[in-house]
Amino acid sequence: MLVYFPEPYRDELLYSLLARYHRHVGSSSPKQTLDDLFGCRGVIARLDLQGSLGHLSTHLPPGWGMSPERLAVDYTLFPYYLAFQPAGIRGRVLGALIGGSLAGLHLLLGLASAASRIRQLRFCPVCVLEMENTHGEPYWRRTHQLPGALLCPDHGVILRSSGIPSALGNRHAFIAATSANCDCGREVAPTSLENDETLLSVARACRQALEFMPQARNRETWATWYRNGLIRAGLSSSSGRVKLNELEERFRDHFGLALQPLLADVGLADMSWLVALTQRPSRALHPLLNILLQKFLKGLVSDEPFGTGPWPCLNPLSGHQGELLVERVATHRNRGRIVGVFECACGYAYARNVDQSSGTLSRPRPLRFGAEFDRQIRQLVDDQIGIRQAARWLHVDPRTVRLHAAKLNLNAIWAAASVSMPVVCDSGGRRKAWMDLQQKYPNLGRNALSKLEPALFMWLYRHDKEWLVTNQPAAKVSRRVRVVSPWASLDLEWMQRVADLAEEIRQELPPRKVTLAEICRRTADPIWLSSHLRRLPNTAVLLGRLRDTTASFQVRRVAWAAHELENAGQCLAVWRIRRKAGLSRQVAMEVKAALELAVSPRVPLP
Ligand SMILES: [Zn+2]
Ligand SMILES: [Zn+2]
Repeated sequence: MLVYFPEPYRDELLYSLLARYHRHVGSSSPKQTLDDLFGCRGVIARLDLQGSLGHLSTHLPPGWGMSPERLAVDYTLFPYYLAFQPAGIRGRVLGALIGGSLAGLHLLLGLASAASRIRQLRFCPVCVLEMENTHGEPYWRRTHQLPGALLCPDHGVILRSSGIPSALGNRHAFIAATSANCDCGREVAPTSLENDETLLSVARACRQALEFMPQARNRETWATWYRNGLIRAGLSSSSGRVKLNELEERFRDHFGLALQPLLADVGLADMSWLVALTQRPSRALHPLLNILLQKFLKGLVSDEPFGTGPWPCLNPLSGHQGELLVERVATHRNRGRIVGVFECACGYAYARNVDQSSGTLSRPRPLRFGAEFDRQIRQLVDDQIGIRQAARWLHVDPRTVRLHAAKLNLNAIWAAASVSMPVVCDSGGRRKAWMDLQQKYPNLGRNALSKLEPALFMWLYRHDKEWLVTNQPAAKVSRRVRVVSPWASLDLEWMQRVADLAEEIRQELPPRKVTLAEICRRTADPIWLSSHLRRLPNTAVLLGRLRDTTASFQVRRVAWAAHELENAGQCLAVWRIRRKAGLSRQVAMEVKAALELAVSPRVPLP
């Protein structure tokens, strides 16, 4: 077993790790290194799919905890090469990588021709600079070795060939990236295509397939999906006859100048594969071809549920309400509906959804109101305008005004009737004390502050939590946390994503429960997060905190139900709210309190 093995960098290729090992230990020969790593000199070091991973994983230092499957999925090109392959082939290839023969694998995957794979290891000059600054040494990145990814997905720079051939002349060589072999290098695409949007989006789609391997489907399923897409786009009759000439023409139009270098990168010149993909191909086709066809079809039909853009901005305070200023719509699926989020540059955003079975389009629902709304609500509060008048002025309902004012921590004359805080109580100057504390120690996070004044913090936490949550500094990431593994930085990225998604769910009306499953459903690959949570400890803790308990969800439903009944002009009664909110007979104390609060007489509105 090895006593040393380099810590992998973000997105590092397994071959790169092995080569860095070879260099770091000053190995006398590649054969010696093979002996160290695999316990066998007959293994061949490969750039894309490494074999004998079973041997390798048993030789890694204890504590590395790296199963051969993980080595294949997280450090080789396995997920990209097999992104569109059925489960059976995935299993077969994985078995071969762990401990079988690699003969015929590329043929099985539609990558038999050497021209369909990268010919030389690639690098991005900007990445290399960053690597040298951060780590003191460059390394080979996985996302730079994907045939079809011609630009760096991070920088948009055209990738360069390092001159290190992928078919290693000396089959046992380990060549780490260095500032010498990553010096200038030949560009893998014409320089005129630097930062080309099409190439960049293809490179990112390749990375997406690598990092979030799509669910395994057989070729027939993919072919059916493609055929349906062509039918919807009017490029195929419903009986399945493809309008070849038109398809090819629109395909060429769609990718423009980027198409030729993309196809050349996988050793293709013609378009015969396009039809093969839609007719249950008898053999596997290159992953890039699937990616291109999917991008093409998405470009044709994904925006269809909301028509073609641009779409109007609906911000009544903007002075440009109704003008077609929203260029893009972000869509996601949610329980049989396609949800579109339309955001204008003025900061106003709204959502609409389409029921996929009936095709009905919902009314727009505001998500964010933009900076002008904030400015005006502050002004209205300063001018001591009554809530109903303010609501009319801002084109929203009084409850939204109230919630928004609370969010901005505005001291409105009508704030006492707040419904956003189920437990309204006198904080006895504690709120001020807490704000003073923050002013006194502007650099401290909430954790440190709570340790300075534990009693104050606990009181606010127990009795005035909603106010506390909106009036505390953001949680600080300790400076001592060093991002040493790609998982640590992934963990940080996911914390942010998960927090955003939980907030998005919380904003929805009627209220939806914030659960792990619901959060996962809204990510690009719903299975990935839940199956990797073990590696993302901070995200896991955060998820636990963000999740709704039954009671917290019921409290939100009570507030919503009361609001709905009030809007419908119905008299508020506990039984009515309970029925509307769908509460069970037994509810927690805090839900009872919320019910009582909802029916208690309000402070008279101005
Ligand atoms: Zn780069
Ligand atoms: Zn706008």
